[in-house]
Amino acid sequence: MTNVQNNLMHIQTNINEACIRANRNPDVVTIIAVTKEVSVERTQEVIKSGVIHLGENRPEGLKKKLDAIDDKINWHYIGSLQTRKVKTVINEIETLHSLDRLSLADEIEKRATHIKDCFVQVNVSEEESKHGLPIGQVESFIQELEKYSRIRVIGLMTMAPNTEDESIIRHVFRELKKLQVKIAEKQLSYAPCTELSMGMSGDYEIAIEEGATFIRIGTALVGKEREEIK
Ligand SMILES: *Cc1c(COP(=O)(O)O)cnc(C)c1O
Repeated sequence: MTNVQNNLMHIQTNINEACIRANRNPDVVTIIAVTKEVSVERTQEVIKSGVIHLGENRPEGLKKKLDAIDDKINWHYIGSLQTRKVKTVINEIETLHSLDRLSLADEIEKRATHIKDCFVQVNVSEEESKHGLPIGQVESFIQELEKYSRIRVIGLMTMAPNTEDESIIRHVFRELKKLQVKIAEKQLSYAPCTELSMGMSGDYEIAIEEGATFIRIGTALVGKEREEIK
């Protein structure tokens, strides 16, 4: 068994156990393998292990993988996206996890050839270093998106702060879930907002306990390679 297969089995066990604790169905949790820091070869190993959702956070990294990989993959763009890069990225991906401003929505509207599934990125902890909207601005932002025919808000995305304190992490995920439910209850056709993209290598079990439907796993699944991929 390869390292990746081993890691995947281990992660799946943890997902199942977290789902049991939270009384959730593991089938509704999708693993996105974040391949941003690994080679094409390692990425191909990930695909061989059966993962079909892959995440990249730079246009260059995405292009490199797209050029080399022929398999049918659901590509997720998980990084902050510069407006001028939208045209090279938007029609290559299934889902954008980092919608956080109207200027980006404008550009997506202009460049996307089909309706694009997007997560609105939320900076729950309001750390300066993080992208995303503060919780208090999310509802009005989503209201503004009504006029964009090429954007469908499928959910909310966040990154928890980098801390050992589980209660802080859990609080962040719980706040995002509350907001997601509140928006979903509005039953907006352009913003069903049924999904939650939260949880990374260090905190995905907590995220699942708090309702994550997409977890974004890098190092714990694919490892880390020395080689820099640009
Ligand atoms: C890198 C990255 C991940 C994966 O991080 P790991 O800790 O390696 O699992 C998840 N989400 C985002 C937005 C990232 O940039």
